Amino acid sequence: MIEFLWLLLPVAAASGWFAAQRSSSHFESTPSTFNLSSDYFKGLNYLLNEQPDKAIDVFVKLIDVDSDTVETHLALGALFRRRGEVDRAIRIHQNLIARTTLNAQQRALAVLELAQDYQRSGLLDRAEILFIELTQSIDYQVYAYRQLLDVYQQEHEWEKAVQTAKALSKISGENVKSLIAHYYCEMAEMARHQGLRDQAVQSVQKALTADNHSVRASMLEGKLALDECDKKQAIKAFRRIERQDATYLSEVIAPLKQCYQDIGKEDEFKKFLQYILERYGGITPMLVLANMLQDEATEEQAADFIVKQLHKRPSVRGLDHLLDLALSHTGNITYEHLLLLKDMTKQLLKNKPVYKCHHCGFTGKTLHWQCPSCKQWNTIKPIQGIEGE
Ligand SMILES: [Zn+2]
Repeated sequence: MIEFLWLLLPVAAASGWFAAQRSSSHFESTPSTFNLSSDYFKGLNYLLNEQPDKAIDVFVKLIDVDSDTVETHLALGALFRRRGEVDRAIRIHQNLIARTTLNAQQRALAVLELAQDYQRSGLLDRAEILFIELTQSIDYQVYAYRQLLDVYQQEHEWEKAVQTAKALSKISGENVKSLIAHYYCEMAEMARHQGLRDQAVQSVQKALTADNHSVRASMLEGKLALDECDKKQAIKAFRRIERQDATYLSEVIAPLKQCYQDIGKEDEFKKFLQYILERYGGITPMLVLANMLQDEATEEQAADFIVKQLHKRPSVRGLDHLLDLALSHTGNITYEHLLLLKDMTKQLLKNKPVYKCHHCGFTGKTLHWQCPSCKQWNTIKPIQGIEGE
């Protein structure tokens, strides 16, 4: 309860002021101030004695007396919420809002607090109503829109989320394109799940209109096309991802391979793989290509291909696959292959730290007895495990 002690501050100020008034020669009696502080002492006493509900009773009555104490009540309510005592916070804030003596700013603040209480306790419908009210308040509208977005995301109210994001962007200038695209994608996924294909297709188009870099929308468009066995449309959608964000290409290589195989254009797919491998690298296209080589040519050719690629970009997944190949035809492991494998482990280990601080996580290639980062002694040790000792 020690954090409640700061609430004594206004009381101390009031009694200080009272004492000053009394000692001055022009003493005027100020009974209301005196009553206020004595009631405050009573309330604080309850707080300090871990009787918060009695304290709330006192404070709630106080507010009838004087609306100057609004800020203290707001602070008290916020404190209860922070401590996880949301029901108490709600009681205080509901009582505040019921007062007719609040000015517009005080009311807005109290509504904001109560909305947060409701949000915190999962009463999202009530929180929504209050946050909508706050979107009319210039001071809190940006915050209110953000919280509304949070509420709608939790409740999967994607259409409302779209409208709210647009409103937020309008007043704050925030870029909400990708956010809106995700909301439309959520709608599309829901519709697809319910078998509402046309609706799903429409939502995907809206997502792409909102954000033409939406990888998720392209992936969904591809899936929807596959639902209809429209391979060409699926290929078009999946390949668009290259222009949107090539780092996601690995996600669509498997379905793309299937599509190309189904329409009998594996050569075209191979060219595509070679192209993205050259341009962007990536282990997935490399392994798929290696597998295709394995099917068409010899395992040795596939292994050579992997080794060549791994020289350019060492990777554990690639190494693992190479070992699989080597194990599948043990008779053919050549000294040359072993040299290449050795070369690769060397490359993989080249940039790995050897020592790690167990206190702060600092890593390096030199053994320091005192960690250069956290200055602890004897915390740096050789790294253990698969990539270490
Ligand atoms: Zn350290």
